[in-house]
Amino acid sequence: MRIQAFRVRPVDVPLSIPLITSSGAIHSAPLVLLDLATDSGIHGSSYVFAFQRRLLAPLAQLISNLEELLRGDTVAPVEISAKLQHAFRLAGPQGLAGMAAAAIDMAAWDACAKAANLPLARFLGGDVKPVPAYQSRGLGIIGPGPAGREAERLIPGFRAIKARLGYPDLETDLAVIREIRKAVDPGVIVMTDYNQSLTAPEAARRAQALEAENIYWIEEPVLADDFAGHAEVRAKTSIPIQTGENWWGPRDMARSIAAGASDFGMPDVVKIGGVTGWMRAAGLAEAHRMPISSHLFPEISAHLLAASSTAHWLEFVDFASPILRNPAVPREGFVTPSDTPGSGIEWDESAVARYLAF
Ligand SMILES: [Mg+2]
Repeated sequence: MRIQAFRVRPVDVPLSIPLITSSGAIHSAPLVLLDLATDSGIHGSSYVFAFQRRLLAPLAQLISNLEELLRGDTVAPVEISAKLQHAFRLAGPQGLAGMAAAAIDMAAWDACAKAANLPLARFLGGDVKPVPAYQSRGLGIIGPGPAGREAERLIPGFRAIKARLGYPDLETDLAVIREIRKAVDPGVIVMTDYNQSLTAPEAARRAQALEAENIYWIEEPVLADDFAGHAEVRAKTSIPIQTGENWWGPRDMARSIAAGASDFGMPDVVKIGGVTGWMRAAGLAEAHRMPISSHLFPEISAHLLAASSTAHWLEFVDFASPILRNPAVPREGFVTPSDTPGSGIEWDESAVARYLAF
């Protein structure tokens, strides 16, 4: 099976609930959709998140530009990944280059699993089984009262929910958590995410104050690449530290683990290097007995967690749901990977046409 052509389409999908974090707000999901056509007639599909509308055109263009480099190559994701790593070595393999490479990698794995007539989870050696999922939609920086009401509205169907923190002062962080706790059953797990907004001393102070509030994890309390800062906060609190959505490839993860930055890890399937990067990260997690959760991309992440030995939590968001024929659906706190061949990503073409960005 060889690569024949790329079809690249940029869409901008409105979010059902805007997400306001301490590091910026997201009102729509600018996504690049990739369909990789092969000479066997099988198509591999994937999507990547451009974060901002102003990055959408350059990311789509970059993915398109790579078609020429890969046309005629065998659909062998490890080989493709090595070729792209080499192609980007001088420019740097992160940022848009890393996102483009991951889009191709995920589409290539989708095509391979389809050729084997297996759901991706089973193609990777796992099974199609339910994965615990937490509610990660909404619950942004909206203030204590609204956060309590939103938690009450969003918790049905889940037994875990994540709140964004990083208000101007500790007192508001505490008030928000207390309102959320009041709004949900006592057994509900509450994760928190500071989205990189604090300094290490301030993060340690807030973490210690949150210890009485039954918090499951504190995510990215300081800048994502400040592994020493994460480790400093971790040493000063009993609440587990979570990080990893900004690890660019498994080597970042290895450095983060070596620095003792976190108790838990949460690779983002795109930034970690697609399915190829995820499986390497899962191996690192296995070796270090580190529980790993996913970040965004619930459809493909459900497959990857089902094939990872230290799988922890799937982050449930629905950024791409409006353009997918079979979006991830949470049921009683779990998401089950699709049981059709591949990753299960198929476009709702009329919705894609409606949200085409240009
Ligand atoms: Mg986060």
